[in-house]
Amino acid sequence: MCTSPLLSIQCSSKKGILQKICTRRLDVESDIWYIILMEQHAVVTNKTELEHYLKLTENEKRWFDDKGDSLPLLISTYYLGLMDPHDPADPLRRQVVPSVEELNYTEMETRDPLAEESHSVLPRLVHRYANRVAFLVTDTCATYCRHCFRRRFTAGGCSHVSEQELSAITAYLSEHIEVKELLLTGGDPLTLTDSKLEHVLGSLRAVRSDLVIRLCTRMPATFPARVTDRLISILASYTKVALYVMTQFNHYREITEESRTAVSRFVDAGIPVMNQTVLLRGVNDDVQTLETLMNNLVAIRVKPYYLFQGDLVGGTGHLRVPLEQGMQLEALLRQRLSGLAMPVYAIDLPEGGGKVPLGSTYLIGKDCDGHWQFRTASGEKRTYPDP
Ligand code: SF4
Repeated sequence: MCTSPLLSIQCSSKKGILQKICTRRLDVESDIWYIILMEQHAVVTNKTELEHYLKLTENEKRWFDDKGDSLPLLISTYYLGLMDPHDPADPLRRQVVPSVEELNYTEMETRDPLAEESHSVLPRLVHRYANRVAFLVTDTCATYCRHCFRRRFTAGGCSHVSEQELSAITAYLSEHIEVKELLLTGGDPLTLTDSKLEHVLGSLRAVRSDLVIRLCTRMPATFPARVTDRLISILASYTKVALYVMTQFNHYREITEESRTAVSRFVDAGIPVMNQTVLLRGVNDDVQTLETLMNNLVAIRVKPYYLFQGDLVGGTGHLRVPLEQGMQLEALLRQRLSGLAMPVYAIDLPEGGGKVPLGSTYLIGKDCDGHWQFRTASGEKRTYPDP
């Protein structure tokens, strides 16, 4: 058993290593907590460490030989412990273990398909929609996803927001009162220390007490031990105007006792939790997996919000699901899920076109008597005569 002031990790046998989990909640006081996590082997960052957990495939090995400037490797040992080490096609593994396929770029793909750079009004502030902005508060995460749409920025070396950058952003927000919502994103904002996060939230609230804040984090799925009592008490003190937590669970096996506890802590503190799933080939591109994921999210008090079509980001083509297949999945899900469990299947259009829903159409049109004609989710016809 390894121990540290911050966390305790069980790692005594080979099986123990495979099931390595954080057993105590973190006390995230130090500004260098993230570095300490690495030193305590709570994350793996290189091939040698990864091979303690998994027997790499040829495609995975080749990425290490020729990774170029692709997103670096970083996986929490907690998340590694959720994988079947003997299954090279494990859906959790596909999300975080790099493959040489990432080096394939097509002409249609770019490094910034949503045109965030051209919509950046300040360093770290994207103003693409009239009434909301995205604040890229950090470029680090507890685990890097191979499908990351923001990989031009993620792990790019600009670390956490500086005081100067924060001042410029708060000044912008105080002038732009048309902005009603702010996405605190990155990277993963929960890689900020508690004190830094509190400072950022306090600075935002000081200039805009009316702003709805969405805190976008993958930690409940990849590093649930980050959701500590202290974190919750900080967040809860900023909920007079709504603060939402937006998670990213992509597979039902990411919902564990630890992640359920993390989510419960938010919800019990009055912080609503919504989930944005990315539709990924070989991960969740079948209706049973998506159905189970959405139902299990609802059961742990998380509202499935979006199911995203993969963006045209270079190096992620092997994880993208054809649009036609995505729409078929959406139609099947609509038959199986309640309205509460059903996410909106959406695409973020290239060149900054914004998000649009991709749901099936059930309205056929008007008949010759002027009555509306619909088809039901199972394909039958129905008429709705307007009064
Ligand atoms: S947690 Fe979010 S920002 Fe970080 S790598 Fe995954 S998708 Fe990208």
